[in-house]
Amino acid sequence: MTTAAIIVAAGKGVRAGGYVPKQFAMLCGKVMLSHSVNALNSHPAIAAIVVVVGEGQEEQAREKLGESVNFVNFVPGGNERRDSVRAGLEMLAGKGVTRVLIHDAARPFLPATVIDALLEALDHAPGAVPVLPVADTLARGDITLGDNVSRAGLNRIQTPQAFHFDAILAAHRAWPEGEEATDDAQMLRRMGQDVMLVPGDSMLDKITHPQDFAAAEARHAATLISRSAAGFDVHRFEAGQELWLGGVLIPHDKGLSGHSDADVVLHAITDALLGTIGAGDIGMHFPPSDPRWRGAASAQFLEHAAGLVREQGGIIDFIDVTIICEAPKVGPHREAIRASIAAILRLPVSRVSLKATTTERLGFTGRGEGMAAQAIATVRLRGE
Ligand code: MG
Repeated sequence: MTTAAIIVAAGKGVRAGGYVPKQFAMLCGKVMLSHSVNALNSHPAIAAIVVVVGEGQEEQAREKLGESVNFVNFVPGGNERRDSVRAGLEMLAGKGVTRVLIHDAARPFLPATVIDALLEALDHAPGAVPVLPVADTLARGDITLGDNVSRAGLNRIQTPQAFHFDAILAAHRAWPEGEEATDDAQMLRRMGQDVMLVPGDSMLDKITHPQDFAAAEARHAATLISRSAAGFDVHRFEAGQELWLGGVLIPHDKGLSGHSDADVVLHAITDALLGTIGAGDIGMHFPPSDPRWRGAASAQFLEHAAGLVREQGGIIDFIDVTIICEAPKVGPHREAIRASIAAILRLPVSRVSLKATTTERLGFTGRGEGMAAQAIATVRLRGE
């Protein structure tokens, strides 16, 4: 039993506004299309993914998909949605595919439970679609209100729609040229075949208009879990070095030494952020043995860590830092450092906290031999 998935991503995105087709617009830190690619790729039953792109969009799709591009085959679509689905089906024809899911890129958040339910339904019928009940009162009317329409037995149809591969391919091949088709499930019904209903999910709601992006971001945020991680760093004081703290050059009679610019604050935050996604530590990503990082501005280390969090759909909620030293006094520079960290992370300053303490002249910080910083990062991530 080989199951493939076709994602229709051939839209020009005119209704959603802007010049970027909506399947390539950013949503929760990634292009919209890569959300459904990743959801299908991470489902154990899906063996192959075909993305149907618009005429001339393949290069743009490859470039925008980032790492997700490794999981997909591209095929150019047609004028109508039906032509695009047909192109995807024909690409898979003769390759031993027995079941296929047909999905719209405009429904980026695809729960594994919906895929499970669809595939199980295919044991009983050649087609299956996810549906949600209609919640609002329905009524006819144009300028003035007409009669109510009973909601009983009405469904909102979502994608992916799931089919026995040979049955849906035959339905597409038999469809009369020039006749409009609403969706693939109706095409299968036209062949006299049954389509089962399975429970849909509000996460699958379609993104059509520009305002739908904000609603989708909010829906996504509601599914995230909070995670915090700590980072800690130390650098040695050395005469003649510059002192960089949080991306700000601080006037002082000595600075911190290290392979990069030795910004102890940014290093601690970088490690804290990497910790939230279990991505190791700063030394793994930027080895001190690599000459590229000699004297490097540490903002790029922090930007890299923040990028990794955002690639996972993560949201950085809060950064709290403590600087540990006898001198210099941090107070006069506190707001500049907070603003600098916030700018690097693209956060409001209110989400960055900076504190300082001495160690009562005890230990290496107390003797002024070096400076330490600790940070805690709190992020929201997909719960798994
Ligand atoms: Mg360091």
